[in-house]
Amino acid sequence: MINKTRKRIWLVIGASRDGIGAAIAKAAVKQGDRVIITGAETSPLSMPDGVETYHQLDVCNTVEISALAKQFSKIDVLVNCAAISRRDNEDDIDIFRHVIDINLIGNFDVIKTFEPAIIGAKGTVINIASMYSFFGSPKVPAYGASKAGIHQLTKSMALKYAPKGVRVNAIAPGFVVTEQTQKGRDDQEHYKAVIDRTPFSRWGNPDDIAGPAMFLASDQAAFITGQTIIVDGGYSIG
Ligand code: NAP
Repeated sequence: MINKTRKRIWLVIGASRDGIGAAIAKAAVKQGDRVIITGAETSPLSMPDGVETYHQLDVCNTVEISALAKQFSKIDVLVNCAAISRRDNEDDIDIFRHVIDINLIGNFDVIKTFEPAIIGAKGTVINIASMYSFFGSPKVPAYGASKAGIHQLTKSMALKYAPKGVRVNAIAPGFVVTEQTQKGRDDQEHYKAVIDRTPFSRWGNPDDIAGPAMFLASDQAAFITGQTIIVDGGYSIG
């Protein structure tokens, strides 16, 4: 149950650009919660109004994660948004490894290291999966493998933390207009193929993902754990 005696604390990992993490951070601020964000760069592209603090955090750096975790005794909502893709370059073994390191192992390390604060708040974790958790793509084999891993990890973490009163879910967005998808959107064939396959005939925007995140973090989702909720304008149903 949500603690009503104090403001809830959100930690959104990977919210330094105007992407999905930032949209989630803004929505959490709007509903009156305290929000802290992180990114890989020294400073965020823009700091959403009302966000308390920005921390530079490389999710591949266990020491940095531990140092940040020491600053929190309670986290009510942990959102794992940090990820990269290297479209058309992920056949290179070093790049493949790097993508898995950030998108899967890094996010796992964050959950593990913040475990005391999340359990302390009887909080909840929201991971970000992808259409590529379910579909293959020769252009992003590492990204797809990492996101399939997130889908699976969400179930394992949900089982692990359920006895502690902690829910773990994921959102699998469809194709969303953010900096991360710029290269894909520059490929006109891909850009149009997404629109043609999506029943709502458009790419998503980051705010499309924020609402489901607010729901998953709320008491209305109290009986939902281990699920990957697809938010794709119907892309995956056709
Ligand atoms: P984005 O704005 O580029 O967000 C990615 C975030 O990850 C940035 O804040 C980035 O920080 C951070 N990051 C990258 N490498 C990191 C590292 N080593 N350590 C810590 N943080 C790191 O892209 P987005 O599209 O909103 O993506 C957000 C999430 O949604 C990702 O998990 C992505 O895979 C997922 N997703 C996106 C789409 C889509 O269509 N856009 C679809 C499905 C899933 P810096 O900016 O500081 O580098």
